Amino acid sequence: MKIGVLCVQGAFIEHIKIFEKLGADCICLRQKSDITHIDGLVLPGGESTTQGKLLHELNMFEPLKEKIINGLPVFATCAGLILLSEKLTNDTNIYFGTLPITTKRNAYGRQSDSFQTTAHFKGIGNYLMTFIRAPYIESTDSSVDVLATVNNKIVAVKYKNQLGLAFHPELGDDIRIHQYFIDMIGHKPLPH
Ligand code: GLN
Repeated sequence: MKIGVLCVQGAFIEHIKIFEKLGADCICLRQKSDITHIDGLVLPGGESTTQGKLLHELNMFEPLKEKIINGLPVFATCAGLILLSEKLTNDTNIYFGTLPITTKRNAYGRQSDSFQTTAHFKGIGNYLMTFIRAPYIESTDSSVDVLATVNNKIVAVKYKNQLGLAFHPELGDDIRIHQYFIDMIGHKPLPH
């Protein structure tokens, strides 16, 4: 299994370390020619405006969008979730727009730019979630599966081949969500 990790900006190394621990091969996607055959795609946290700009400048945007539309399993965290969102409430940009949700950037404001909390993740159980200048999901299409909420705000969803999280599961040593994504790639039935 080969997982392509977008390595243009942000917290990509942490994802790679966890996937390698789980026995998956990772390839760093830094330029268009790196985008060959991959079984899954990771869009890491970081800064979505910068990532979006770099994706266009490096001509990686269209080939990746095509793969997502064609069903490539994609795992997006934080800024990555912003890149997938169909609508953003406080940003005029739209990036891939393949996930039918409305997302608010920097939604937790300055006071709590970063925090950790434990909440239930559907199919996994209690999970310690790390939020860093995080977005949350304001609304979703009814076909989207909500996997986690924190204080009534949606922070994790799954829609067809797309898994999107507002928090950072790669920071810390809990590998269960990365395993969940590997199971998604393997089309293993996911826990309910
Ligand atoms: N605040 C960032 C953005 O809007 C996302 C933060 C993160 O990925 N940790 O892109």
